[in-house]
Amino acid sequence: MSLDGTYDPDNIFAKILRAEMPAARVFEDDHVLAFMDVFPQAKGHTLVIPKHSTARNFLDEDPEVIGPLMLGAQRVAKAVRAALNPDGIVITQFNGAPAGQTVFHLHVHIIPRWEGVALGRHGQGMADMEKLKVLAAQIAAKIA
Ligand code: AMP
Repeated sequence: MSLDGTYDPDNIFAKILRAEMPAARVFEDDHVLAFMDVFPQAKGHTLVIPKHSTARNFLDEDPEVIGPLMLGAQRVAKAVRAALNPDGIVITQFNGAPAGQTVFHLHVHIIPRWEGVALGRHGQGMADMEKLKVLAAQIAAKIA
């Protein structure tokens, strides 16, 4: 059901885009903003969002936004790899509450994985913002 609905301009990510809420920012260009997930499922869990969008999910999005968003996600994922040297990286996104979506501004998750390290629970356990800023700076330094 929540696949459909009206975009809320006061959702958390819209507020982060307007700098009305703090975030450990990693990278931005004309099209995307990347920042650390504050409830990380793994060290280095990063989110990439379109900057000029009122799409709640992937299906709603203007096709012209998808290309730059995925290019941004790839660029950030490569920087995450270079900074943190994970064994694998999950790149995913959720559409609708039954699929696990909790914030209704389109976003892509970049989640580093290490052999033998279990994935944390989605949206559980708030990280320390100062530690997230250190990670954000490490990843930002590897953006190519
Ligand atoms: P989803 O469940 O796919 O909608 O993902 C939303 C993500 O946003 C979750 O992984 C949350 O941990 C994350 N999140 C929620 N609030 C914030 C916030 N203020 N700053 C950064 N990440 C957030």
